[in-house]
Amino acid sequence: MFTDVRLIADSPPDAERLAARALDLLKDLRTGPGPVPYTIAYVHLAGLNGEVSGALQSFVEQGTAVPEKIWRDLYDQHILDSGGSMSDSMSDSLRRILASVSANISEARRSTADFGAEVRRAVAEIDAKQDRPPDALLTAARRLLTAAESTCARTGALQAQLEAAMADAERLRAELEEQRRAAMIDPLTGLLNRRGMDAEFEALLQVGDGKAFSVLMVDIDRFKAMNDTFGHAVGDVLIRNVAQAIRACIRKTDHAVRYGGEEFLVILTETTGKRAMTIAEAIRTKVASLRLVRRTDNLQLPAITVSIGVAGSYPGDDADAIVNRADRAMYQSKQEGRNQVTCA
Ligand code: GH3
Ligand code: MG
Ligand code: MG
Repeated sequence: MFTDVRLIADSPPDAERLAARALDLLKDLRTGPGPVPYTIAYVHLAGLNGEVSGALQSFVEQGTAVPEKIWRDLYDQHILDSGGSMSDSMSDSLRRILASVSANISEARRSTADFGAEVRRAVAEIDAKQDRPPDALLTAARRLLTAAESTCARTGALQAQLEAAMADAERLRAELEEQRRAAMIDPLTGLLNRRGMDAEFEALLQVGDGKAFSVLMVDIDRFKAMNDTFGHAVGDVLIRNVAQAIRACIRKTDHAVRYGGEEFLVILTETTGKRAMTIAEAIRTKVASLRLVRRTDNLQLPAITVSIGVAGSYPGDDADAIVNRADRAMYQSKQEGRNQVTCA
């Protein structure tokens, strides 16, 4: 829905013009420049979403105030529910624009203050003079001074409001970021989920620097029997422990994924097949050496083992191809007796 946003936000002259119009529109609709109404106004003016424009139309035509709930609903429906797809560039541009408006106001305020000081000095000088000019002139100067002071106070309030809006926008950005991150994490293990894996593969393959990487497919052996004997809750604990063991054997730059129920996939960046075999072997032995005890009765659980398939990348590989090779190698490990590592 917001694929066009990047285009617009990437062209600063257009973005600034739209931003100025959005702020004007908010004034017409008697709404403060908060990030929620601002974003909706911007989306409407940029023609990015017909439904948003449709919803605003009657308010725009009649110049009536838009109730806060309407802004909020439009935002929830069309911005948040777009799956966090409000692009970084959109929220970046929002922050940039608010910052630039705030800087402009700050500048305006400073020059008004300078002007006020100038008038005050002039009034004092005139006051001190022996041959004072007619009172009318002095009164006019005093009125000028009052006007400058009240403009100064008003721009000060506006700036404070904008700064609050900027803090809001920043909070919103952090929330979006957090939502996006959470959407890529498997809650049981804290590893990446399939969506996270897709994102990592995409990033890795997009770099296209031809650097070798490797993929491990890791599947717990005879896990169904564990579940059947000790129950699903214990099964979950085992899954979590295997996930931890995997994480302990890889670097921060690698990516561990919960690929399925009791299946894991590891992307080893900048790693050739040979080194990947060593890491796979380290994972296999670490899992096999886990000694787990059921908390309720201190029962020692049987050792768990994993079967692993290793595949190194080929130039021009796509994610499916390398994952399939790792998967086939993993099945070979199963067929040859489990608790072992096979290279594709
Ligand atoms: P194999 O050695 O051939 O892999 O045997 P297996 O029993 O591990 O294989 P299978 O795929 O038949 O069984 C996997 C089991 O994993 C089935 C399912 O009950 C269990 N499982 C899948 N997801 C979860 C989960 O999230 N929690 C728990 N506790 N069990 C799960
Ligand atoms: Mg299994
Ligand atoms: Mg399985």
